[in-house]
Amino acid sequence: MQLCCICASVAPMRFSVQAEEALRRGGRRITPMRRALLLLLEELGGETPLGPRELHSELRRRGVRVDRVSVYRNVSTLLELGLVHRVLGSSALRPCAQRKPSCHHAIVCTGCGVAREFRSGAVEKALAALRVRAPGFVVQGHLLELRGLCQRCAA
Ligand SMILES: [Zn+2]
Ligand SMILES: [Zn+2]
Ligand SMILES: [Zn+2]
Repeated sequence: MQLCCICASVAPMRFSVQAEEALRRGGRRITPMRRALLLLLEELGGETPLGPRELHSELRRRGVRVDRVSVYRNVSTLLELGLVHRVLGSSALRPCAQRKPSCHHAIVCTGCGVAREFRSGAVEKALAALRVRAPGFVVQGHLLELRGLCQRCAA
């Protein structure tokens, strides 16, 4: 399959800056804890997806005073706004690399967890065509993730 856009190859806007803007637009305050979480997610990027529990320990290790419930609450806000994604079948989170909202997917390394996002018109078209062949269902969306080995793990 041809990937029409490997988004990591273009210089992305800083995740934390973009996420803060989106949160503000959504009428949400930027608390010091929220900023620390965004910076941590930015730093980990698509390289080391961590779950809320690990994010909480890492924030605490860095001296951010925050309880686990707040981390969970903030994570669900970020998920709701599409600013982070959950690696399918796990609790690990990775920041979204897109600047504009549009359906996109990721290829995830099963060796180390590194993820790259891509968009593919061909995939979207094929899934849209499947929709008309699902009688008795109103299709509302799809989850799709490619699995494989990154260059480092394949070597
Ligand atoms: Zn994304
Ligand atoms: Zn899609
Ligand atoms: Zn890998």
